[in-house]
Amino acid sequence: MKLAQRVEQLPPYLFARISQLIAEKRAAGVDVISLGIGDPDVPTPAYLIDVLKQAADKPANHRYPESDGLPEFREAIARWYAKRHGVSLDANKEIVPLIGSKEGIGHLPLCLIDPGDVALMTDPGYPVYEIGTMFAGGESVKLPLREEDGWLPRLDEIDPAVAARAKVLWLNYPNNPTGAVADLAFFEHAVAWAREHDVVIAHDLAYADVVYDGYEPHSILEVEGAKDVAIEFNSLSKAFNMTGWRVGMAVGNATVINALTRVKTNLDSGIPQAIQEMAIAALDDPRDTMEVHNAIYGRRRDRVVEVLRELGLRLDPPKASLYVWARLPQGERSSAEFAARLIDATGVVVTPGMSYGPSGEGYIRISLTVPDDRLEEALRRLSAFARGEAVL
Ligand SMILES: *Cc1c(COP(=O)(O)O)cnc(C)c1O
Repeated sequence: MKLAQRVEQLPPYLFARISQLIAEKRAAGVDVISLGIGDPDVPTPAYLIDVLKQAADKPANHRYPESDGLPEFREAIARWYAKRHGVSLDANKEIVPLIGSKEGIGHLPLCLIDPGDVALMTDPGYPVYEIGTMFAGGESVKLPLREEDGWLPRLDEIDPAVAARAKVLWLNYPNNPTGAVADLAFFEHAVAWAREHDVVIAHDLAYADVVYDGYEPHSILEVEGAKDVAIEFNSLSKAFNMTGWRVGMAVGNATVINALTRVKTNLDSGIPQAIQEMAIAALDDPRDTMEVHNAIYGRRRDRVVEVLRELGLRLDPPKASLYVWARLPQGERSSAEFAARLIDATGVVVTPGMSYGPSGEGYIRISLTVPDDRLEEALRRLSAFARGEAVL
């Protein structure tokens, strides 16, 4: 059997060596703790599950949903954007619900990219931007992010010949994996750049609501005129501990939203309606669920920062996101080597920065989505390792 090029071209699993090491350690009886996975450990709030259970009993929800979602859900998204970001959205033209934002991120290139077109994306970055581009026959051009720039891309250094071939610029702030945030001035500059070069901005705001110390993240749509060039992906996954229910959204430019809706109509039949009802209840949440979750992650962040510094890693505590991104100690070059050594000595798994792209080399990512007792055990081991004590 000969599979299609787009499948043959999928990159090999970058953690192959780490996975093998984990398997070896487990086989040897080591209690391996992974700080690698960005999936909230705390369950979806019980009152939302109650809404879902009741919605599951309604026969109207047993039939095909509409690809463009329940009008009530689109209206709830519009209310949410008005409340959180002061952005007004037309619920009929500027919003499409998604089966998790990853689904829309993967499908957007089918709307914008013809074979040979360029998609610009930041490096390190979330891998789906690049894979979706490849599936559409496009070419990914990576914009290196640097610590000294606060992990923001240098848009003015993009080669004009590349900019001329570019159809889309992917941005993601608060950022995975670096935890970096962008201020409104950056988004204003990006919108002006996109307008000048006739490029669509696709901003991934998956971490809009995972914030610390009162930080207020921005929607790119807060920039005046942004809707002329930009769409934004958003998700209930991280904010409401709803990764398992698959519900997100794309909002912004009506032409792009319409194209994405048309692609989706031909590929899927939308989000199960009972889950949309649960999502409406989450967005209209009167209970400050997000504050409760963020307090838990904030406590964990502080503990992780403390212990990583003991290990000689350099870092800025993140203002947002579920991740601590840290620079390897002086003299260490390879993030994969460092991660392998940690697993071997402590049974604790961290993600090598190079897994998110070449500019991630020299860094590791630690996720805060591990139950408190497991995280404390991992940190106890890392701390002992830092003091040169045998851990396992
Ligand atoms: C988690 C994540 C997503 C996907 O979230 P969904 O669960 O598909 O809504 C998108 N972008 C980034 C950067 C993420 O980390």
